[in-house]
Amino acid sequence: MSNFLDSKIEFLKGIGPQKGSVLNKDMAIFTFGDFLEIFPFRYDDRTTFYKINELRSDMNNVQIKGKIVNFSKNGTTHQQRLNAIFKDETGVVDLIWFQGAQWVAKNIVIGQEYILFGKPSVFGNKLNFAHPELEKIGENKEVQTKLSPVYHTSESMKRVFLDSKGVSRAMKELLSQAIPKLEETLPEYLLATFGLIGKKEALANIHFPSDEKLLQKAQTRIKFEELFYIQLKMLLEKGIHRASSPGLVVRNLQTLRKFYETILPFDLTNAQKKVIREIRTDVGSGKQMNRLLQGDVGSGKTIVAFICMLMALDNGAQACIMAPTEILAEQHFQGLFEYCQKLDIKLKLLTGSSKKKERAEIHTALEDGSLQILVGTHALLEDKVKFKNLGICVIDEQHRFGVAQRARLWNKKEHIPPHILVMTATPIPRTLAMTVYGDLEVSVIDELPAGRKPIKTVHKYETSRLRVYGMIEEEIKKGHQAYVVFPLIEESEKIDLKNLMDGYHDIVRNFPNYHVSIVHGKLSPSEKESEMARFVRKETQIMVATTVIEVGVNVPNATIMVIENAERFGLAQLHQLRGRVGRGGNQSFCVLVTGNKLSQDGKVRMETLVRTTDGFEIADVDLKLRGPGDMSGTKQSGVLELKLASLVFDGAILKEARAMAEKILSKDLKLQHPANAILYKQISKMKGNKVDWGAIS
Ligand code: ADP
Ligand code: MG
Repeated sequence: MSNFLDSKIEFLKGIGPQKGSVLNKDMAIFTFGDFLEIFPFRYDDRTTFYKINELRSDMNNVQIKGKIVNFSKNGTTHQQRLNAIFKDETGVVDLIWFQGAQWVAKNIVIGQEYILFGKPSVFGNKLNFAHPELEKIGENKEVQTKLSPVYHTSESMKRVFLDSKGVSRAMKELLSQAIPKLEETLPEYLLATFGLIGKKEALANIHFPSDEKLLQKAQTRIKFEELFYIQLKMLLEKGIHRASSPGLVVRNLQTLRKFYETILPFDLTNAQKKVIREIRTDVGSGKQMNRLLQGDVGSGKTIVAFICMLMALDNGAQACIMAPTEILAEQHFQGLFEYCQKLDIKLKLLTGSSKKKERAEIHTALEDGSLQILVGTHALLEDKVKFKNLGICVIDEQHRFGVAQRARLWNKKEHIPPHILVMTATPIPRTLAMTVYGDLEVSVIDELPAGRKPIKTVHKYETSRLRVYGMIEEEIKKGHQAYVVFPLIEESEKIDLKNLMDGYHDIVRNFPNYHVSIVHGKLSPSEKESEMARFVRKETQIMVATTVIEVGVNVPNATIMVIENAERFGLAQLHQLRGRVGRGGNQSFCVLVTGNKLSQDGKVRMETLVRTTDGFEIADVDLKLRGPGDMSGTKQSGVLELKLASLVFDGAILKEARAMAEKILSKDLKLQHPANAILYKQISKMKGNKVDWGAIS
């Protein structure tokens, strides 16, 4: 059987070398087995006939029965189009052809009964069909009475007659050969536990469903299989990695104790304590830690990172923390500097704008071990940066770093790999975390420090700008500070910059008695820094900025954030921005200012932010609006190239699949039980399989 599925696709009847090579190139389809797994993205319902008065422009392809009452050719000879009027007992609708008008006109028969198939759309307030399919009733063609599959195809596929219909024809051929030979790919007990249908029935019905119910069963079965094997493979690899990769053993904690007893200025929240315990267990185990720390903005991740770094220092190793921007790296540096001074720890900052001489000093001190903590940007990744003994590496705001960069860090040639703590304030929905970060342990800080008041968020239209300025003024009068944020997106940088400058001048005019700072990406790092510093020192009351302040910047006295053109930001980004306020004990505000015209998605985004400050809830809405392919940092990972399952809609299946995979491995780590023979075989066949069975103990 496996031989049959491994047959080259060009050998399928009706495919051949030309189509075969297009499939290789465009779809990475090489074998019969690959071809069976291009699943329809939707199904046309050819079981139902609609009446013209039931049609709406948001429908997909539909079928109607009726007659053509007249037609006419219009336009120049060069660009001729054909218009026709189609009628049933409930109304009329326009048909239009822009191509092949001559040919269609020749074949149309007035008064003949047709079945029309196509997608209704609106043109000038009227419904019409462009290029519909017409089929004479009574023509002894096999009338379709089923859900028929629609496949995605590329332009070059269409050129070789592999449009959706062509794919469907080839699929029918392949299935008729394959069905008798297909082997089951899930163990019997899994099918029984979850009430899943068998492989043959599933594949037959995913492509050519007998009915809606079987289609659903086929989809469930195939999605389960897909998600289950991803989880099983990841858990296997994770188990192996943990068993095989050594890490610095943390035993001594004397400096950490001193820090707790004499320096830490507040009580840790229970959530912070819980996470520190989790980390402590990891770093005491002798194995390398790979942990993702999720915590909403302001939940206090930095102090956890510092405590974690102290654990390394206390055991003769160095630590580093890497931030995505210079401003952030600097803030970490400032924030840690005081603690480090009190604890007599050597700390340095390394960014793209560090001077050559300073760099050289840092490089030397790192290599001889005298420098204990290095804070920086991705400048830390340069080859010249070599630690004597790096014990732990903290990566802040991970989503800004590509997966590739993270991998590079892992690969730095230390004697033993450093413990890795990845911190993110972009709450990743559990379904995504399970899949994308399936190889990391996950900790969550799900509690804000005591005394924080939830930020009050309102949505205002541009027309109420004066009211918004009023709110800013109220806050400043209380001695607080304000952020006003403008979008700055690369494609329209010029216009955005003009917007920002206009906004800045407008604010300066409206607040003559106050000082206004401005920070944007076009300033040099030192200009940015000095503007930020003025705001931090309270020399300015208002900070006008682009999204450079998005992550991490910490000015607890800032209590109001106005976000201009809020409709142009994504949900996650808005939530990040909003997190810049509400960091002290005072009530804080966020004002989302948008134009009067808002898209449906835009409205949902604003409503969501006004309703909740829960980052996980926001992340869930975001995932639903944008789809997982868009979540930052995940695109390159490849794990998201799911064939059928969706991380947005199939969270429930994913959860069951994950739990089942865990349960199976807890009893049979090497998949040696006869009942799991199928699992062993499937895992061994998977692409990019890194499971080394010998390494599992
Ligand atoms: P984030 O998780 O967004 O990185 P930070 O680490 O910047 O948050 O912390 C936000 C602010 O809260 C900082 O000023 C920090 O000193 C303070 N903070 C952290 N933990 C606590 C705590 N347990 N109690 C009071 N304040 C805290
Ligand atoms: Mg932070």
